[in-house]
Amino acid sequence: MLDLLIKNGQLVYPTEIKYGCLAVKDGKIVDISDETSSLEAKKVIDAKGFYILPGMIDDHVHFNDPGFTWRDDFPHASRAAARGGITTVIDMSMQNVPAVATGQILQKKAAYLTGRSYVDFALWGALIRTNRAHLLGLAEAGAAALKCFMSEPSSDYTSLWPKEIADRLKILSSTGILAGFHCEDYHLLKSGEKACLRDGKKARKDVLAVHSVASEKKAVQELIGILRQTGGRIHICHVSHPEVAMLIKRAKQQELHVTAETCLHYLLFDDEDYLKRGPLFKCAPPLRSKAAMQDLWHYVEDGTLDTVASDHSPCTLEEKDESGPKGAFGAWGGLSGVQTTLQGFWNLAVEEHGASPLLVAKVLSENPARIFGLWGRKGALLPGFDADFVFLDAERGWEIKAKQLEYLNKFSAFVGLQGTGLPVATYLRGRCIYEDGVFPEKPQGHFMPAKLPEPIE
Ligand SMILES: [Zn+2]
Repeated sequence: MLDLLIKNGQLVYPTEIKYGCLAVKDGKIVDISDETSSLEAKKVIDAKGFYILPGMIDDHVHFNDPGFTWRDDFPHASRAAARGGITTVIDMSMQNVPAVATGQILQKKAAYLTGRSYVDFALWGALIRTNRAHLLGLAEAGAAALKCFMSEPSSDYTSLWPKEIADRLKILSSTGILAGFHCEDYHLLKSGEKACLRDGKKARKDVLAVHSVASEKKAVQELIGILRQTGGRIHICHVSHPEVAMLIKRAKQQELHVTAETCLHYLLFDDEDYLKRGPLFKCAPPLRSKAAMQDLWHYVEDGTLDTVASDHSPCTLEEKDESGPKGAFGAWGGLSGVQTTLQGFWNLAVEEHGASPLLVAKVLSENPARIFGLWGRKGALLPGFDADFVFLDAERGWEIKAKQLEYLNKFSAFVGLQGTGLPVATYLRGRCIYEDGVFPEKPQGHFMPAKLPEPIE
């Protein structure tokens, strides 16, 4: 007998939307069919009127746990994810104590988080100056990808020079492991900020001028040039501007192994939001012009930008303060968004642009699963995959309110946003992990080691 049968839902399949039944046993999807008559289950749910989407995967979150848990922690942030329809998060390797620089640290972090996460989780490893000898160990421990900064990172997580990046990509290319990059040019940022502070220019517009589009483009161009020499797979994190997306599009046309992510905030907000509404809208790379924001959408639609993540990067309100000696430069850069990414993206894609729900499933579930070594378990409503899915009410209007946020620090740039289409229930491996304000008593998320790709000959 089945454990669970979901019937009469609009199933968002990888290639079509199908009215039918989803059968679950032992935490896995065992069947998808139009028929119900022959199927018996311990529990049957009538999903009439709902879309059933595969569980969403946020491939870029900073839950700050362990180490910086005054900003957020796994118990809070993973509840937020569950409430927002996200069943797997891939947590970043920095803003952790210690940074995830070795396979051993990664295993320790995975063990620590087991029992603290309401959703399944995979882990980024570090790609920093001091861990050259540990890259393969990280891959073997199940790291989903390794994160590298071409700009100045926010902690003592060291960034790499181009020569070092080439060296590391050569090592990684023999394994097929993915390297993810924060692309802003270190020199331009560093010298720009220094000059501004020297001249007493500390306003938000000065932050925007330093974190220029040119700086992001320069870093991406340099990185693609390196990749051309070394081989391997790279993932460009948080692409903020269509001109950057264009560089990636060309690299893909040349069959380089480049994938890319943007974040919901680059598709919904612009530089005026930051200038007028303040440091809650500060991030790096920063929000761009309205025209750029609107144009960036086309690169999601045409597949250049493979994934949409939250880059959930919480902090305290005090850390958003601009009154210190560095002015606007001193405020924390990062937005809290893991809970509201699916509803915000659904509204933008389906309601505003008339896109198919298939696009939502692709960029928020299938593509991250494929890119980060989780495909086969996560990323689609397919037999044999984990029974991770979301009920979405496409008619339900919403406004994001601070009191609904599950984060430790209940503020976000997304508060006040309105739209239509809300995730109302979330299932992880066949169990309900969120419905009507209710979560499981205990966190049940598992560590998902990424599959080590076969060596590339
Ligand atoms: Zn980030």
